[in-house]
Amino acid sequence: MESLEPENDPMESCYCAVCGGPTFGVIFSSLDEKGVDRKPSYYDPEVVSPKDAEWTDEMVVIGHNQGTRRAFISGKGRNDNGAILVSPGDDPNFLDPRTNGLACYTAWSGQSPIFPIHSRCVTLLTRYMADMEDLPGIDLDILYLAFHRFAPCLPPTLKADLGQVCGRPGPWFRTYAWWCRRGEEFLVADPISLSENSVDLLRQTIRKPEFRVSPRPSRITNEILGKLPNEIVDTIVSLLNTPEMMNLCEASRAVHQALHHNNNPFWKKLIKEELPWFFELHDLIQDDELMRDRNWVAVLKWADEATTPALGMKAPWASLANRRRIWDCCKELVLPYYEAFSMFDGPLG
Ligand SMILES: [Zn+2]
Repeated sequence: MESLEPENDPMESCYCAVCGGPTFGVIFSSLDEKGVDRKPSYYDPEVVSPKDAEWTDEMVVIGHNQGTRRAFISGKGRNDNGAILVSPGDDPNFLDPRTNGLACYTAWSGQSPIFPIHSRCVTLLTRYMADMEDLPGIDLDILYLAFHRFAPCLPPTLKADLGQVCGRPGPWFRTYAWWCRRGEEFLVADPISLSENSVDLLRQTIRKPEFRVSPRPSRITNEILGKLPNEIVDTIVSLLNTPEMMNLCEASRAVHQALHHNNNPFWKKLIKEELPWFFELHDLIQDDELMRDRNWVAVLKWADEATTPALGMKAPWASLANRRRIWDCCKELVLPYYEAFSMFDGPLG
């Protein structure tokens, strides 16, 4: 059985309050001249480049100004061996003189705790919350309250169960240090910026012959569904969840034809609902010429499978898988955010 003990030296770290990822201590190691991997516990730069992981150093903090009793967001910050240094930024509530050596998650000397967040994760959380129709965007006071409810004293990470990585316990459950385990490079792959080449690769993949739509041989003989008007088939399909709908679409020629005949709006809506974080695909499927004669079921299945987090993923899938993981982390924060929203009745105490 695989050992879960770290092989690299533990380094003090402090995790992002949204994604649980590192703000410090991301280490890469190449093979030596004989092709020997001397440090298997460090990330492989051939899988995700160090440049692609630089975003983990870019962070801000959310804190609480006890004078104004309001939450604040700092300017740019960085993690210096576990102590956070930040610039004031332009939030007028940032009146706190503590701009260096800040301790995360823990209240020191009567001061309120602060929560570090990757700048990339602020962007994704903002976008996630903007998609929530019954929430008026992010309120900083409420977000701070939501974080506060999840912050234990130790270790310096959130109590919230942010899920597991590839079936293995996430690094944030075990130690102060971030463990750079080979195969998990996708955890530090840039979750937002995909290169132009990557978008071209997505486009080329969709145009491959295997994604061409073709009449399906029906596994169901004497289909009663084939005798129904398309509107009735649409109604039936709308009652199914996506896996059930895709299975029926695979099995039934009538459903397959009904859903693929001049039904692009249906698929565009479904893909946005199923893969809400796959922004590049949302843009690509607006191109009717690109999507002409494409099998939408195959495209949806491929997009889902190719971006499911797994060990050893490379660009651009590593970045997309990490974005998907962080999107799920944002989902985990919705409930505490709603709870904080319902209990908030004025300036923070
Ligand atoms: Zn993060």
